[in-house]
Amino acid sequence: MKAACASQAGGGLECVFDRQALARAVDVFHARGERVALVPTMGGLHAGHLSLIDVARRHAERVIVSIYVNPAQFAAGEDFDRYPRDLEADRARLAAAGADLLFAPDDAAIYPHGLRAALKLAAPPALAGTLCGLSRPGHFDGVLTVVARLFNLVRPAVAVFGEKDYQQLLIVEYLARDLGYPLEIIRAPLIRDHDGLALSSRNVYLEAAERQAALALPQALEAAARALTGRLSERIAECERQGWAALIEAGLEPEYFTVRDAGDLGLPRPDRPWRILAAARAGRTRLIDNLAVP
Ligand code: AMP
Repeated sequence: MKAACASQAGGGLECVFDRQALARAVDVFHARGERVALVPTMGGLHAGHLSLIDVARRHAERVIVSIYVNPAQFAAGEDFDRYPRDLEADRARLAAAGADLLFAPDDAAIYPHGLRAALKLAAPPALAGTLCGLSRPGHFDGVLTVVARLFNLVRPAVAVFGEKDYQQLLIVEYLARDLGYPLEIIRAPLIRDHDGLALSSRNVYLEAAERQAALALPQALEAAARALTGRLSERIAECERQGWAALIEAGLEPEYFTVRDAGDLGLPRPDRPWRILAAARAGRTRLIDNLAVP
């Protein structure tokens, strides 16, 4: 895989695997005065990921996409082993989408002392101890641990994250502020399939009936957003109850369906934006989705 990627470096999209090669490529961009945007991903690329490249392009002359399935953010028993991995297919998609460089680090490039011995970051409990953090303890610690390393290695002026992973986005914004990274975090809108399902690398796990059932997730969010338009606080509890019931009715196993403050994920307050967030399982596949309250 690596040899194939490297051998085509001149013809297709250039792909680097280690710290030194990445540093050389970034130095060349910087020497030309070009701003670098980073789009971190775990691969299994779809149109949602590619939309992040379009956003990145509006903020920088060079777009570096990273692909790394980060073991630190998967708990035992989660889907680390079966997560979709096809570097050459992803690389072709990135070339067509106009990325400038693919950083596909090996484990040593991210965790040179090994994962167990690596310095770890702890996500702020107020943001990480709720929603996905409840069913995936340690997940956001793992996300921050890898994102900080990617920031250090790529040295981007901007980094683009999707609103698909809304809680992650807020936690990464916190990281950049808290540690004073000299970069800007750019939010990219959530991209959906033609039928409304949020695009996700994990959608490939879904069997036909599960995929059909999964549509209840965006539909329930839409219904709640409609009912809450104008932000009628007295309707929140009922909307949450109905959303939960709609997921069960469709055969999904809901994990949460909740209206939160869009800035800190606390209880919604009348004078601030709200976000409706949901997670549910369709069979073995865990799905997340969210929507702004108009
Ligand atoms: P992942 O490969 O799942 O770790 O995602 C990499 C980046 O792509 C994250 O910033 C995600 O929020 C973003 N992303 C994934 N799916 C979508 C989507 N459907 N729409 C917008 N951004 C997405």
